[in-house]
Amino acid sequence: MKTVRLVLGAVFLAQTAWAQQGAPTPTSRPFHVVNYDLSLELPETGKTIAGNAVLTVQRMGPGDTLRLDLLDLTVSRVQLDGKDVRFVRDSSSLRVAVAGATSRFTVAVQYGGAVTDGLIIGTDSAGRWMAFGDNWPNRARRWIPSIDHPSDKATVSWTVKAPSDRRVIANGSLVEETPLPTPRDPDGSAGRPVSWTVTRWRESRPIAAYLMVIAAAPLVRFELGTTACGVAEFPGCVPQQLYVAPEQRHMAPGEFARAGDIVEYFGRLVGPFPYEKLSHLQSSTRFGGMENASAIFYDDKIFRRKGADAGLIAHETAHQWFGDAVTEREWGHLWLSEGFATYFSALYLGHAFGDSALVGHLRRDREGLVKSANVASRPVIDTLQTNLMALLNDNSYQKGGWVLHMLRQEVGDSAFFGGIRDYWAAHKHATALTDDLRAAVEKRAGRDLRWFFDQWLRRPGVAELATSWRYDTTKHELHVVVEQGSRFAPYRLKLPVAITDAAGATRTQVLEIGAQSRAEVVVPMRSAPRALTVDPGVAVLATFTAK
Ligand SMILES: [Zn+2]
Repeated sequence: MKTVRLVLGAVFLAQTAWAQQGAPTPTSRPFHVVNYDLSLELPETGKTIAGNAVLTVQRMGPGDTLRLDLLDLTVSRVQLDGKDVRFVRDSSSLRVAVAGATSRFTVAVQYGGAVTDGLIIGTDSAGRWMAFGDNWPNRARRWIPSIDHPSDKATVSWTVKAPSDRRVIANGSLVEETPLPTPRDPDGSAGRPVSWTVTRWRESRPIAAYLMVIAAAPLVRFELGTTACGVAEFPGCVPQQLYVAPEQRHMAPGEFARAGDIVEYFGRLVGPFPYEKLSHLQSSTRFGGMENASAIFYDDKIFRRKGADAGLIAHETAHQWFGDAVTEREWGHLWLSEGFATYFSALYLGHAFGDSALVGHLRRDREGLVKSANVASRPVIDTLQTNLMALLNDNSYQKGGWVLHMLRQEVGDSAFFGGIRDYWAAHKHATALTDDLRAAVEKRAGRDLRWFFDQWLRRPGVAELATSWRYDTTKHELHVVVEQGSRFAPYRLKLPVAITDAAGATRTQVLEIGAQSRAEVVVPMRSAPRALTVDPGVAVLATFTAK
């Protein structure tokens, strides 16, 4: 996702109490949800919903009690394989007695009540009722009985009954859209009768609970066409749609005219687009954009102000590969989602607008990172952070993106993109940790990269480089001295230096700098250079001073 900074401040304060990483680790969890069949009845007005969730559950180890995350709502009945079963409700969970169940069983939960979060119900500026799912990081449990942790991915079907004047959009492909018979009201005493429609969607690829959403709102649909033919996991091409509020129809398609090019680019670079379709929706998400699998939600305010820009669309679209299809198994590895979306959206901007767009992004991000107190004090892989909202920071996003950029310099384009493609193909529709990425790139590069991942991801900071040079006229040698600051342990680096000779010709030499506080590199040269420029192409996350 992309955060909206102003909004995030308020959200952060309001939610520190609940945003705790409470779920057990996947290896310790005895049950895995394979599929959710979620039926929801939405109200005409107000916030009261009625739900029936049928979960197909796989037993992974010994356990008598299935614990599901569920807050706020009232559970009226639970059935195990079609028979009523004992359950216990507390403030954060639903516990179901499953001792007699076989290795795979179904649990049906009837529940309902007034929704306070997760499914955001409100009215738009024209006073029209609307609802949008907004689950990140662990708010699915506010309206879906679920194992609400990114390590537990499942397929999902939605069956939503809603007044017919609201369009219902969800993950996956549209299965059914059926208007129900309108009740007869011969004398008109009940006012204009409400007509209802049942809409069904099916996501056939496993996704994390935080990505399971519906939208129910009076949205106008625009076709964005089909692209990425031959780089789509589903037969044919990738269809895309844009949904906007009626009064925003003049904005369509706007920058979304690029959506096809973006999907095509990532499809060729990474792997086939992993879902049935890709929809882009104007919504009430609290984030600038939220990468819900195959149905990206964008902040309503962005649409009303100027429309989404190519960078935001590319960021959320890149998440369909990174975060959605390959999901970080632990929250501490959030950079596998946000760092990738940051770097790959910058790669797309470079592809679309020229290299200077990519370099400009890297330069701006670096300017922020080298001054960041957060970057100086915490590592990117932050296993100690229990406040999940606090992980939406410059380590996960900009430094994560920068680490990918440096990894690319370290191993070269072929091993970098080959390794990323292998990593993605091996873990798509499943989960991964940083070591899975490391192993894939190491295999392509043919060498150990633990030192690289450790220095950039598992400890705080950036490199601080002070460079100086002298020319030895008798030996015809250029001596470049690189000293590293003492705030952080020294980094092992490849440092490009542009050397301009006496005749005015410039060539770039890549200096191999060891993880030591002072390094002196000797470059043979016939005559004294006229000038040296350190890191001319923006390749190293460092501060630079000349001594
Ligand atoms: Zn993101």
